[in-house]
Amino acid sequence: MTDGEDEFNSISELLSRAHEVDYQSYTGQFVRSSYELVRRYAGGGLSIGRSLAAIFDLTVTALYMENLLRSKWYFCANEKTQRAVYPFVNTCPSCALSGEFAYIEAGKPPSAKIGKATSVILAAILDLQAKYLKGENYRVCTIDDNGLVDACLIGEKSIGLFEIKSAPLVAFPLMVPLHRESEFSDCGPIVNAALSEHVSMKAPDDYDAFMLIDENLSIPVGSPGEFGLGEHYRRILEWLSIEENFRKFVESWTQTFNGYAVPSLRGNTFWLTNGCGVPTPRPESWPQRRPSGGGYASISDGKSSVGMDRTDDVKKGIYQVIKISTHYKEFFPSEGWEVSAALVSNIHAVKHHENYLKELEDVVWTIDGKGQSHVVDRDQTHVLIERPKLHNLFDGIIAFTKSYFRDDFLREIYDFNV
Ligand SMILES: [Zn+2]
Repeated sequence: MTDGEDEFNSISELLSRAHEVDYQSYTGQFVRSSYELVRRYAGGGLSIGRSLAAIFDLTVTALYMENLLRSKWYFCANEKTQRAVYPFVNTCPSCALSGEFAYIEAGKPPSAKIGKATSVILAAILDLQAKYLKGENYRVCTIDDNGLVDACLIGEKSIGLFEIKSAPLVAFPLMVPLHRESEFSDCGPIVNAALSEHVSMKAPDDYDAFMLIDENLSIPVGSPGEFGLGEHYRRILEWLSIEENFRKFVESWTQTFNGYAVPSLRGNTFWLTNGCGVPTPRPESWPQRRPSGGGYASISDGKSSVGMDRTDDVKKGIYQVIKISTHYKEFFPSEGWEVSAALVSNIHAVKHHENYLKELEDVVWTIDGKGQSHVVDRDQTHVLIERPKLHNLFDGIIAFTKSYFRDDFLREIYDFNV
């Protein structure tokens, strides 16, 4: 809780501020159609959980594209092909994919425009999953800023209260091939620049752009001038609805994810991911960190989390789940609802699970105070607690890539890897 935020003292108060997912919005429409593709093409050799995590990144990238910063297009002449590139981390994506590093500033849209929207995208996928497995009566709603609960899963008699910590593994960068000198010279003030330099250029609004997935895979996304109109969502879906494309996309994402988790599996796409750090090997010309705190600039620093994989996020998430649980399971009426509480993300705490979460996974708690106690008996060796008053610290720690459950209501819907 922070000052000025409402605290909801009953489930019905909470539900009065809950919003159903808006499937008319660009991202809502896109997530719904993509979820259908996951159900059509995934399974068997292609993991549903990995597919959904990949779709999450694709949707967030498409949302970024609606909000590009016009000053962050750069000219790149790597390997004698002239291109305009748009990076979401501090390196030229075209060069990074050919194994070279050139520092340029990321064009990530301001978080004020994006922050909440990524939680809504995650909630939409969770909503579709609940409806797919349990029917239309189940739904996931987001809840107006209240500092307590981000989203909730509403079932028949049970309600899941979610603390969401989400961030993409990778926002896929953009590239525009510039085939003739005359084409790029009218794109902006680059005519006098050495071709190898990465100089800013005018947004190539009328050219055909591609989203770079890896060295060999890109998605045609139409012209940047139309991104603000949402035209790219339709084009990406058109591409993704071809089974071979869908499969290649998820397989490529999975490789990048594996490289994030296991350093020996890293390929060039690692350098497009959030939190990837300072490049290795670092080029001679790579800049120092600014303002100078010693060391070198990061392509993307540790503050840019992947999923819930950032110590501050994990710590805050743990507190929020405890607060949600104590509040709605113990101190305020649950009005007949079976309440579950879960920490939810697109990607589990790959790097920080062992040190920050593992020892807490099976913790249970109760209240045993002077004014209120659920201990009904105790002797030297045993404490007897009312069964319904023994609660899980986490009823679930849920992510598309790996989950942990102590609660069947959540397990039946969100075990993505069954
Ligand atoms: Zn480049």
